[in-house]
Amino acid sequence: MQITLEVDKCIGSGSCEMLAPEVFEVGEDGLAELLDATPGSEMESKCRAAEESCPTQAISVEV
Ligand code: SF4
Repeated sequence: MQITLEVDKCIGSGSCEMLAPEVFEVGEDGLAELLDATPGSEMESKCRAAEESCPTQAISVEV
């Protein structure tokens, strides 16, 4: 699974980190970072939830 994060779209809402903390972390600058850009398939539902929850569509998940 490939996760893409367009940091220039991030507004730091933090919902991605809340839903998939293994993959996303909001850094000291208040913007999300990817902890793991290629998580295993067991993370798909959490990553999909993060993708759907992002208010600015900054996250995309490709299987
Ligand atoms: S959910 Fe979207 S806007 Fe919010 S911190 Fe994550 S990437 Fe940024």
